[in-house]
Amino acid sequence: MNPKQTTPVIPVNEPLLGGHEREYVTECLETGWISSEGKYIQEFEQRWAAYCGMNYGVAVSSGTAALQTALACLQLRPGDEVILPTFTIISCATAILEAGAVPVLVDCDPRTWCMDVKQVEAKVNFRTKALLPVHIYGHPVDMDPIQELARKHQLIVVEDAAEAHGAEYKGRKVGGIGDLSCFSFYANKIITTGEGGMVLAKRKEHADRLRSLRNLCFREDRRFYHTEIGHNYRLTNLQAAMGVAQVERIEKHVAQKRWMAAAYQERLQNIPGLQLPVEESWARNVYWMYGVVLDDSGKMDAVAFARQLKEKRVETRPFFVGMHQQPVFQKMGLFKGEHYPVSERISQQGLYLPSGLTLTESQIDQVCETISQILKTSNPIGGSQR
Ligand SMILES: *Cc1c(COP(=O)(O)O)cnc(C)c1O
Repeated sequence: MNPKQTTPVIPVNEPLLGGHEREYVTECLETGWISSEGKYIQEFEQRWAAYCGMNYGVAVSSGTAALQTALACLQLRPGDEVILPTFTIISCATAILEAGAVPVLVDCDPRTWCMDVKQVEAKVNFRTKALLPVHIYGHPVDMDPIQELARKHQLIVVEDAAEAHGAEYKGRKVGGIGDLSCFSFYANKIITTGEGGMVLAKRKEHADRLRSLRNLCFREDRRFYHTEIGHNYRLTNLQAAMGVAQVERIEKHVAQKRWMAAAYQERLQNIPGLQLPVEESWARNVYWMYGVVLDDSGKMDAVAFARQLKEKRVETRPFFVGMHQQPVFQKMGLFKGEHYPVSERISQQGLYLPSGLTLTESQIDQVCETISQILKTSNPIGGSQR
């Protein structure tokens, strides 16, 4: 027998459904409330908004739908600009484009990997309408300078908090700071509904528009008569039932992520050439994913590192590829000639380690021993030198 085949893979992620999920979902099945009507939708919206310190919650079918609905809510006009980090998921940029506006990029901070807030002001002009900070891998963006710029230039702030449920900035929950915020409840997020998302809003007029946009912009005064384009981005009561059960356990999930990060840190901190996640003094990092960045000595990039880890049964995922490096946007003539060196370096040298909510201490031991072996013996093979 090949021992390789019998060693179980340490998965990069696994959800934890350890509370009342089954009970609440069963109740939906037994009562027939399975669509987007039903008590769990409102309960989920209210509880999540309250947890984050926002006034309104509008549940939608994914985090991507949340971003699209939030951006559509702003009624942007062609030529209007929205500033976002290049280092993020494509949903952020596509939501801006679908709203008819122009995405404008900034690089990221080399320590936190979040939007470098010092670079934002230089990109603000009379066309700028909104800022889209993204809390990357569980670490909050430095929000005070963002809020300050927004006040000064009358911009709307839309937080993408899809990777940072429960994270805090100066004692305030992320997703509770801007005018609007977006969450995902995909299966690998800190709390999950399988697929799902939510937009939180401070103002009632935003919440009203969001509700209309998620439901095809039906009018209350005349059914099947439309004055605006919306989508069907409704979440089901079944998913919301899971969401309520997950919200009940958010602090346990956050504690588990923070325990995981401490365990990794303790075992990896003395390995040279490996940059680990940080937690700034003003931050509570929830370590959605435990990312590491290899130094750029040229010895090994993240692709080669991931391949070696995979051979040793450790699953990883690469970091984001910057929006300015996406062929789909280059084809559209966007971000021509733009370079963001921090983002480019960490997408080449960064990956994240197994970070699931069910990860055990012995699995962490195994991951760290494997990393240590690989980096000790790593010869300058270069892996994929692209
Ligand atoms: C996961 C994620 C999303 C998208 O969420 P989906 O539910 O997968 O559509 C948006 N933004 C960020 C930063 C994410 O990590």
